[in-house]
Amino acid sequence: MPVARRRIPARRAARPWVLLLAGLFAGLLAACERTPPPPTPPATTQAVFFSFGTLVSVELWGTSPELGRQALAAIEGDLNYMHFAWHAWKPGSLGRVNQLLATGAWFTANPSVLPLVKRAHALWRRSGGLFNPAMGELLALWGFQSDAPPQGPPPSAEAIAAWLASAPRPDDLEMDGLRLRSRNPHLRLDLGGIAKGYALAQIADNLRDMGVPAAILNAGGDLYAWGRPGERPWRIGIRHPRRAGIIATLDIRGAEAVFTSGDYERYVEYAGHRYPHILDPRTGYPAEGVQAVTVIHADPTLADAAATALYVAGVRDWPRAAVAMGVREILLIDAEGRLYLTPEMRQRLRFVPDAPRPVVVHLPAS
Ligand code: ADP
Ligand code: MG
Repeated sequence: MPVARRRIPARRAARPWVLLLAGLFAGLLAACERTPPPPTPPATTQAVFFSFGTLVSVELWGTSPELGRQALAAIEGDLNYMHFAWHAWKPGSLGRVNQLLATGAWFTANPSVLPLVKRAHALWRRSGGLFNPAMGELLALWGFQSDAPPQGPPPSAEAIAAWLASAPRPDDLEMDGLRLRSRNPHLRLDLGGIAKGYALAQIADNLRDMGVPAAILNAGGDLYAWGRPGERPWRIGIRHPRRAGIIATLDIRGAEAVFTSGDYERYVEYAGHRYPHILDPRTGYPAEGVQAVTVIHADPTLADAAATALYVAGVRDWPRAAVAMGVREILLIDAEGRLYLTPEMRQRLRFVPDAPRPVVVHLPAS
């Protein structure tokens, strides 16, 4: 609606009180000029690294140029170290652990892997075995332990049956301080299902200790953010699993992780069938029926493991697995593109206009 304009009064001779006011105003102006200028808005520091097989982009808010530089150097150092330490099949701390686990003898592990192995063990138990960090041998059989995109036919049914019969699981590990051994010669650790979450948690702790008030860390679409970049919260998009673009947006509250396990990043395509890199430990084959699962949680390690476990649980069992894992904010997209979400997740998401109508699923009582 147009705003009515006030008529500008004709000029009149200035009265004494007008002069007084003008004097006061000039005095105020002079006082303002003497106060220091308002601080310039806090700077943003951005960078992209390549680590954990993906692009890791970081945006730090409210840091001085000096703190920004220090923080980026710390992130780079942490990423390099953790990638080296936790890689499942390259030479490094976990690579060596895997070689020695095959011998069945006791050995001293590099301490850099032990907290992650312990956490993975606990999450395996919580997931009822759906999240299994002891499946390195099976992942290698499928060609998922390689830098090159996996190719070729799936492993033979016999090879998969043999792995299933050996049934490696974290309970086959014995731990005594820094010493480890495996009672199962087929146990190889692959921490790919939680390493990114654990890494982002470590980096975030480090950055907060350094005084970074707000940041968003994005490792190939899995992210962790805290603080606020100014007045508004961090707003992020959830990627559409089949198209370019996003399916919904959400605002980060406080410090939160948003992790997705999907069938679209890494998979083998053979004879018209897609075999994604998330394997079902009960069958030895890739989990079926799901395009993507997104989990929001304050703890990035839990969000990462839960997204993997719920992906394996599938369309029927994910609510039960969610309760077992202790997560409540979940979106699952099934193989036909149907959306399922919890009431807690519905509150958080703003869907794009052409998104399918989601089915709201209440989690069972625990
Ligand atoms: P992404 O790494 O693509 O974000 P995930 O967090 O689900 O997705 O991790 C997938 C990785 O986890 C695989 O590449 C493999 O290393 C490992 N993995 C696959 N299936 C399982 C499983 N059932 N339990 C634990 N780890 C798994
Ligand atoms: Mg995961």
